[in-house]
Amino acid sequence: MGYTPMIQQYLKIKSDYKDSFLFFRLGDFYEMFFEDAKKAAQELEITLTSRDGGTADRIPMCGVPYHSAENYIKTLIEKGYKVAICEQVEDPKVAKGVVKREVVQLITPGTVMEGKMLNDRENNYLAAIEKIGPSTFAFAYSDMTTGETFVMKITRGWQAVLSELFNRPIKEVIVEKELEEDYQRELIEKMQLTLSTPRHEKFPDNMQILIEDVRNRELHDICMTLYNYLFQTQKRSFEHLKKAQEIELEAYMTLDMYSKRNLEITASMMRKEKFGSLLWVIDRTVTAMGARKLKKWLERPLLTSTLIEARLDMVEGIYDQFMEREGLREALRSIYDLERLSGRVSFGNVNARDLIQLKKSLKNVPLIQQLLHHFDNKALNQLAEELDSLPQLTNLLEESIIEEPPLSITDGNILKDGFHATLDQYRDASRNGKDWIAELERKEKLATNIKSLKVGFNKVFGYYIEVTKANLHLIPEGRYERKQTLTNAERFITNDLKEKEKLILEAEEKSVELEYQLFLEIREKVKQYIPALQKLAERISEIDVLQCFATVSEENNYVRPTFTNTNSVKLVESRHPVVEKVMKEEAFVPNDIQLDEDKFMLLITGPNMSGKSTYMRQLALTIIMAQVGCFVPAKSAQLTIFDQIFTRIGAADDLVSGQSTFMVEMLEAKHAVQHATNNSLILLDEIGRGTSTYDGMAIAQAIIEHIHEYIHAKTLFSTHYHELTSLEEKLNGLRNIHVRAEEINEEVVFLHQIHQGAADESYGIHVAKLAGLPDSLINRANVILEQLEHNDSSMTHRSIDSEASDIEQMSFFVEEKPMKQKEKQAESELVNKLKKLNILEMTPM
Ligand code: ADP
Repeated sequence: MGYTPMIQQYLKIKSDYKDSFLFFRLGDFYEMFFEDAKKAAQELEITLTSRDGGTADRIPMCGVPYHSAENYIKTLIEKGYKVAICEQVEDPKVAKGVVKREVVQLITPGTVMEGKMLNDRENNYLAAIEKIGPSTFAFAYSDMTTGETFVMKITRGWQAVLSELFNRPIKEVIVEKELEEDYQRELIEKMQLTLSTPRHEKFPDNMQILIEDVRNRELHDICMTLYNYLFQTQKRSFEHLKKAQEIELEAYMTLDMYSKRNLEITASMMRKEKFGSLLWVIDRTVTAMGARKLKKWLERPLLTSTLIEARLDMVEGIYDQFMEREGLREALRSIYDLERLSGRVSFGNVNARDLIQLKKSLKNVPLIQQLLHHFDNKALNQLAEELDSLPQLTNLLEESIIEEPPLSITDGNILKDGFHATLDQYRDASRNGKDWIAELERKEKLATNIKSLKVGFNKVFGYYIEVTKANLHLIPEGRYERKQTLTNAERFITNDLKEKEKLILEAEEKSVELEYQLFLEIREKVKQYIPALQKLAERISEIDVLQCFATVSEENNYVRPTFTNTNSVKLVESRHPVVEKVMKEEAFVPNDIQLDEDKFMLLITGPNMSGKSTYMRQLALTIIMAQVGCFVPAKSAQLTIFDQIFTRIGAADDLVSGQSTFMVEMLEAKHAVQHATNNSLILLDEIGRGTSTYDGMAIAQAIIEHIHEYIHAKTLFSTHYHELTSLEEKLNGLRNIHVRAEEINEEVVFLHQIHQGAADESYGIHVAKLAGLPDSLINRANVILEQLEHNDSSMTHRSIDSEASDIEQMSFFVEEKPMKQKEKQAESELVNKLKKLNILEMTPM
């Protein structure tokens, strides 16, 4: 090949990083070549140029300045790309031939460490997935910034893997090439993840400790894959990595992807952001660590009543004592992100300011302990005992680092006087020298009688004596040596001055150097505290979430739930935590919810927009809140522990996978029917709506019967098909309830109140009117309605089987009672007459 040696070197390195942008260091720039250059120029909107590479064709090239590279890297990472940083690893001055270069770090969406690219209140995970059986997968994910790793076996097939990925801040997934292509595509397109391939290297012996708690062989392997990828890409020390923690999925409530999405637990459905989600309402954490912990808890509600009650006890303790709670919140606020700080200490990129923040945080720990002791609650007192305020570390930082250090750690002025004897000597020397210079100025003024004479300093000439042109004649012959001429003044030096200058500069240089060394030593010492800091972070984040639950519970009038073994649910005046928050003038209407061992299914009828799905969702959210240990929005709440929640709510079209609404609906229903137990909750909203009336109703009925017969899961089922309400007679476990809308002055008013029994009317046109459809359209609908009412409505009557009652969609356009038809007719005649009246020509009489 005719390429120059440097381009040959580039190509060789690039061949190891085919799926990444290679940032190739050339002087003050990172350069990219060939295809990388073309793509980068486009993605980063920078100029594409070219250079001679030894061959006939010029090589496409583009570059970004070294000092501003971070922003460009950030842009690429956010777009899901990877960036390999290739540095010059020998001094160009001493290099023979091409300077040696190596990739020193591979930055990927799942392995960013830099603050700018991270969201404080969210984790940033790298995951690994491996298929280990026909429908079994090993799954692990790790947050490099906090050092935590979780690993689990997923036995419910690919869908369950997607559920684990869903709404969790996972950016990148390591998968073997053999993983089904369909799956890989789903990860990229549906989950918008960056895929990476594993790097099979020998797992370092000294890292075995990280996976010693994982006993299962296959989970062991996936952890190694994950950690190995971190080691290979980051090429740094990893003191902060914690042992991989195995998660038994069976120990937590299962929320499939549909439920997580439909119930808007951590992100809203439409905008995929926190606003409008349950998390948005209840997040009253005050630390970043607490915010991340809260999200984790919400994602995995508990199943063990003792664990739930333990959390609730502590929440109640904090709830009961307002003053202490406020104190606690205040004290927590000054706790820095100890988790991510530990990561940065390990990576060697903390500065003196970070360490001051650390010191301030640690100084607040005793206060938190004290406050916890003030609660009249054993568990909280116990938590106080478990906090270690690390006094030795606090002392070290207190003695060494000044209160307001500069950002840079290489320019000195970081350490306190008295911390280190040699440093003090250097500083004294420099200070003495400076005193001497100040004294010199005073003496020379006197000697020359030049009042404006001054001693100054600049980086090029060092110290000098400056005299204005007007005063030059006052300087005695030979007293100074001329050094520099300015427009208005001359600058001079003397031998003594230069000698002192040398001493000062030497002392300063030495002191800066020594300070840097000492700072690195301090940083190394802090490293030894990483495990203790992580433990402290863990406790602090828990305390923060507990106070968050207490705070939000008091502010929003939540009540502590109780759990019974009677397999029943009884919520009095239950509310929807999010809807009640976003409502403006109107107040949320509370409703009771009751489910029993023998009446475990509720069939909900009522017009659109009356609050059926809100009612269903609020039950699910209440259960989730209770099982994470939070109080719930109700006047009183008696619950049983649910193992899983399944939902089919709302019109969540699955556009990406190209499935029809009806298909999605059926998939979600299938999921519920397949996995639900008698301890599960199933919410089915308007099932069957996506297909023709009879078809849809038949499926809906069959699903209800199936759940009733074989699953016994607590189920809320809302429907348009009025005919289904007759199932109450046939199915013992089913009860009809409905939401009524009142017709006041020809307007539909939704009172959002749940009543026993089935609904008898619907109000389609009025709802259409409320929704603001044009008057002409509404009038036309009224006309059509009248016509339909005149026609023989028997044509819409048919039956599915001999047993079933008449099956007829609970249509907006059909009025069942003849009386009503006449009324309507009379009414519209009246309206016509009224319209013809001319008010201007009428008298008040
Ligand atoms: P449906 O499922 O019957 O079509 P939704 O549950 O979507 O109706 O509710 C429609 C709207 O009615 C909600 O967005 C909310 O603003 C309001 N709403 C629902 N339930 C209540 C309630 N209990 N109190 C007050 N407003 C409610």
